[in-house]
Amino acid sequence: MKKDHVEIPKPSSKFQKVNCNECGELQVVYSHASQVVVCNSCGNNIAEPTGSKAKINGKISGSAE
Ligand SMILES: [Zn+2]
Repeated sequence: MKKDHVEIPKPSSKFQKVNCNECGELQVVYSHASQVVVCNSCGNNIAEPTGSKAKINGKISGSAE
């Protein structure tokens, strides 16, 4: 029997609830956003793509899933 138990690392991508640093507006941001996410309310950048996991410029208040 071939032993075939290989752990495949899954990217832990998810949608997160983030409160804007500037105005506190709650936004849903993809954790691996590939483009800049701006606040709907004030236009502040709340997520910036870094190549893998987006940099979140706000307060993460939980998962949106
Ligand atoms: Zn804002």
